[in-house]
Amino acid sequence: MSKYWSDAIQRLTPYVPGEQPKESGITKLNTNENPYPPSPKAAAVITEFDTDRLRLYSDPDCSKLKDALAGHFKVGRENVFVGNGSDEVLAHTFAAFFRNDLPLLMPEFTYSFYPVYCDLFDIQSKQVALGEEFALNLEDYSESNGGIIFANPNAPTSRAVGLGDIEALLQRNTESVVVVDEAYVDFGAESAVDLTHKYPNLLVIQTFSKSRSLAGMRVGYAIGHEDLITGLEMVKNSFNSYPLDMLAIESAVAAVEDIEYFNETTQQIIDTREWTVERMAELGFISLPSKTNFLFSRHRFLEAAELMGYLRSKKILVRYFSKPGIDNYLRITIGTPEEMKLLVDTLEGHPDIFKMDVS
Ligand SMILES: *Cc1c(COP(=O)(O)O)cnc(C)c1O
Repeated sequence: MSKYWSDAIQRLTPYVPGEQPKESGITKLNTNENPYPPSPKAAAVITEFDTDRLRLYSDPDCSKLKDALAGHFKVGRENVFVGNGSDEVLAHTFAAFFRNDLPLLMPEFTYSFYPVYCDLFDIQSKQVALGEEFALNLEDYSESNGGIIFANPNAPTSRAVGLGDIEALLQRNTESVVVVDEAYVDFGAESAVDLTHKYPNLLVIQTFSKSRSLAGMRVGYAIGHEDLITGLEMVKNSFNSYPLDMLAIESAVAAVEDIEYFNETTQQIIDTREWTVERMAELGFISLPSKTNFLFSRHRFLEAAELMGYLRSKKILVRYFSKPGIDNYLRITIGTPEEMKLLVDTLEGHPDIFKMDVS
């Protein structure tokens, strides 16, 4: 705290990202990064980049990337917004659409950046309880609101809702913007992108950080009606004209175009996830049905905080949230098959864990 801080920042509680350890030899299953490298085509763009070009500013409109995404999702370029990671796209979304007199509705347990943006932009919000086993029941988002946001699949709970539920919500809720954060959608859930043709108040946000292995490049995007995209561009052009550098724009284009590599790596992660769920069940863990590249799991009788500490002592990082209601769960990123075997073998070595017959 400093007397020089503005009144507005004195009361902020910033988001705390998962740890990025400096030491080597750590198995990192704590920030939902992809265990596979980016597409070799994206890598080639970077290694072959002519650095003399960096003298100039990057394209403020990111046209090449918007065109690649528009082609991929079968929408117009005017329906695509890009930003420096989907966190930035989300920030502009909050500023552009949610500063209303009515509260923004969001799930009680969801991406913890949403409440942070509410504080930063002075947006009132209301948390809606989740159902049994953290199910997202969109019928519960029925009160008048200044906007609705949820992640699908939700984080950190890993569960997804179907498109039918989302469309029913859009039919009921026509007076405010509905944002679906699809950071994890490529790991087995249904995307709402096609619904943006029909519902002018739907904004779908995705990222290159998870399914396209480019977390370090910081590229995110939104798809929606032209009027929503124009609103986002107004905020962006009042904040930073060049949010994406040349390497980010061009490597992201190559990554979108390499569909084969994308399909191969996402499928591998899904297969590894299902293997991990079964092995962990044999060790007494219960995992929620995941449509993401992570598991949200609790042990039948051991405490999550203790397990997190045990894994850390064995150089395996997983994410733990001390928030009441989810404080007995671990969020475990799906790594390579080798990394997940190491996790399972390490858990099996815990003094209080034994392999049981769950059949
Ligand atoms: C990882 C994540 C993001 C942020 O992704 P970036 O594009 O890396 O900023 C947004 N929403 C959810 C739910 C996430 O898990």
